[in-house]
Amino acid sequence: NKQVILSDYVTGFPKESDMKIITGSINLKVPEGSKDTLLLKNLYLSCDPYMRGRMSKLDKPSFVASFNPGEPLSGYGVSKVLDSTHPNYKKDDLVWGLTSWEEYSLIQSPQLLIKILDTNVPLSYYTGILGMPGLTAYGGLYELSSPKKGEYVYVSAASGAVGQLVGQFAKLVGCHVVGSAGSKEKVDLLKNKFGFDDAFNYKEEPDLDAALKRCFPEGIDIYFENVGGKMLDAVLLNMRIRGRIAVCGMISQYNLEKPEGVHNLMQVVGKRIRMEGFLAGDFYHQYPKFLELVMPAIKEGKLVYVEDIAEGLEKAPSALVGIFTGQNVGKQLVVVARE
Ligand code: NDP
Repeated sequence: NKQVILSDYVTGFPKESDMKIITGSINLKVPEGSKDTLLLKNLYLSCDPYMRGRMSKLDKPSFVASFNPGEPLSGYGVSKVLDSTHPNYKKDDLVWGLTSWEEYSLIQSPQLLIKILDTNVPLSYYTGILGMPGLTAYGGLYELSSPKKGEYVYVSAASGAVGQLVGQFAKLVGCHVVGSAGSKEKVDLLKNKFGFDDAFNYKEEPDLDAALKRCFPEGIDIYFENVGGKMLDAVLLNMRIRGRIAVCGMISQYNLEKPEGVHNLMQVVGKRIRMEGFLAGDFYHQYPKFLELVMPAIKEGKLVYVEDIAEGLEKAPSALVGIFTGQNVGKQLVVVARE
């Protein structure tokens, strides 16, 4: 059983050498007498920015615990049930949810596994558009930000797993949508594949305030925050009265020893901005409703999804590290096995 383990706690930017591939043995049966246990064959693993927090030894409260050095990383994935003593799962069921970064995982009392019922779409989509990032985009935009036709929506890290969907969801309700990303290729995708009205490369626009003023001469109604730091500061200057900021994440801060300060927070008061953080988990109960919207839209070509697929568990460390320098184009995932 090949596994990706955390070598030691990480400080600063993660490196491939912070993880190690080791091979252990596993009995491909659920142990005799164990209750509510599943043996999973992991097919696809998801590389998610929040995993960086779990690689640190935490010194502040967090919504997730640290990984344990010497043990496999865990994260979202798509898996096949090989053996089960759980009444709700049987052999050959497909599931998505929390598993470990290894070929086979023994999971006891699964809390966060959802059965995959529709396989007429790429299975890997359940790490992205049909999984946690999809619910994140849906909840953060539709539930928290209540977008209305004609409103001005800005998304950072816009070509990524979550961002590409936020933009497309906002277009579905008739908003004017602008995104930013870190390369020309990504900006082209935003404009030509995902249907954003405009996009800019933040790495080539050191004056973010000027870039936002050009793209939003009338200001921003909704900011879907993925990045934090200087971007948030520039956005605050460009928000409209009663604007909403859905705080999804702040990836520019995850590898800093000392997070940057936010200088323009007073804008929240005068402009009566509502700024609200959220977690994907807040919307799990809405998954069936979410699927009713998203599944037909995928099948009719009204929603598209770009993935960046790394082949083989050996590539998992470099794939995970790459999302913190923007190497991924679209949702980063790893194929462990295709069936
Ligand atoms: P992405 O697929 O967007 O990958 C990360 C991207 O972030 C990179 O490709 C890169 O794109 C960008 N990035 C990396 N470092 C920086 C930086 N220093 N400054 C600006 N951009 C940077 O990831 P996701 O879509 O999965 O996640 C996007 C955000 O959403 C993250 O903040 C994540 O933590 C958050 N999130 C929150 C969830 C929740 O439950 N609240 C759930 C899922 C995600 P580029 O080339 O454009 O720089």
